[in-house]
Amino acid sequence: MIPASFKYHKPGSVAEAADLLSKHGSNAKILAGGHSLIPMMKLRLAQPEVVIDLGAIDTLSYIENRDGGQAIGGMTTYAEIASSGMVPQALSEAAGQVADVQVRNRGTIGGSLAHNDPAADLPAVVVALDGQIITSSTNEHRSVLATNFFQDLFTTDLAESEIISEIFIPGQAQGSGSAYLKFANKASHFAIVGVAASVTMSEGQCVAASIGIAGAGPTAYRAKLVEESLVGTNLDDNAVEAASEKADNGIDMNDDIHASGDYRAHLVKVFTARAIRLAADRAD
Ligand SMILES: Cc1cc2nc3c(=O)[nH]c(=O)nc-3n(C[C@H](O)[C@H](O)[C@H](O)COP(=O)(O)OP(=O)(O)OC[C@H]3O[C@@H](n4cnc5c(N)ncnc54)[C@H](O)[C@@H]3O)c2cc1C
Repeated sequence: MIPASFKYHKPGSVAEAADLLSKHGSNAKILAGGHSLIPMMKLRLAQPEVVIDLGAIDTLSYIENRDGGQAIGGMTTYAEIASSGMVPQALSEAAGQVADVQVRNRGTIGGSLAHNDPAADLPAVVVALDGQIITSSTNEHRSVLATNFFQDLFTTDLAESEIISEIFIPGQAQGSGSAYLKFANKASHFAIVGVAASVTMSEGQCVAASIGIAGAGPTAYRAKLVEESLVGTNLDDNAVEAASEKADNGIDMNDDIHASGDYRAHLVKVFTARAIRLAADRAD
């Protein structure tokens, strides 16, 4: 339980952190809240020679209204997101359900998205809200759609030289509501299944829907068939139930000591229906 030895850097700016990353390449790891990296280092699943701690870069912690949406700094903690009152309800609700107080006070949105644990909550929400992930390296900034960012189990589009500096959540249309519900592991609170739903209603009809799912597959995914089935309906019980039946479509369900694949396939349908109903109740 003692990590291998490493050199520790605490840069004061994103530029300085990016320089260190480019200098040390695959030998370096970014440290954010440390709630995933430190356990991995203690178990020696990760043995970086250099650790670059972003903790002193105050300019990476913020939530601000911008271009009709919200820009969130990569080092913003779950607790800050949950209590901000500025972000769509699905995001604050998901952040408020992560783990426990200690993890929520240290863990960051950038760390969660970079790590891409299949059971993490925030990737599914950022996918459902059409978020963009903004990365910084020594010579460029890049913006990646969340739907393209999460690629596979613990695998993202993030390059070795890049830092997640910001997450942008576009503004939600008039008549929208969102929700995040999860069936949590009782010990860790990681999602066995979690569902983020966002719906937009106009004159009693659903005109847009997006559903992001956590915990069920190797990475967060959009349930496209569910979304297509909802649009044009009035989201009555029949429409919601029929659409939610498609929530596991095309996904190889995770099957592990926490839940079988069949159980997850069942849960994902139940929680999709519940999240859609809650989002619809909130649509205004
Ligand atoms: C007991 C426990 C319970 C938990 N329960 C939940 C839960 O219910 N739901 C949930 O979603 N998560 C849960 N987690 C995981 C927790 O949310 C972690 O905080 C999160 O996965 C990683 O965020 P972090 O800021 O701690 O990142 P770190 O652990 O510091 O880093 C994680 C990885 O991301 C990289 N990284 C970090 N920040 C950046 C950045 N800005 N740019 C580029 N790379 C970066 C690091 O190099 C590392 O590889 C739990 C963790 C613990 C210990």
